[in-house]
Amino acid sequence: MAMMITEECIDCGACVSVCPNEAVNEGVATDVPVYWIDADRCTECVGAHDEPQCIEVCPVECIVPNPERRESQEELLAKYQALH
Ligand code: SF4
Ligand code: SF4
Repeated sequence: MAMMITEECIDCGACVSVCPNEAVNEGVATDVPVYWIDADRCTECVGAHDEPQCIEVCPVECIVPNPERRESQEELLAKYQALH
């Protein structure tokens, strides 16, 4: 399941550099939040880490599973392997 950033985001940017898949993007401030996760690149860190690294560093716990992107561990691993 890919992750998503909720409107609780304070736009600190801490989650960008820890993502192994370059899935976190900084968008333009036309809507909240500014930072957003590309569901096609997010593997829940499967393939690289035991835990989602963005959640580990987020100071306000605003990163949650994306209910529209339910994926199995196998699908997440296949996505990771396709990306790398
Ligand atoms: S869960 Fe992992 S792969 Fe997904 S956005 Fe967060 S750091 Fe990147
Ligand atoms: S770490 Fe959390 S608060 Fe900071 S930009 Fe990422 S989602 Fe937003």
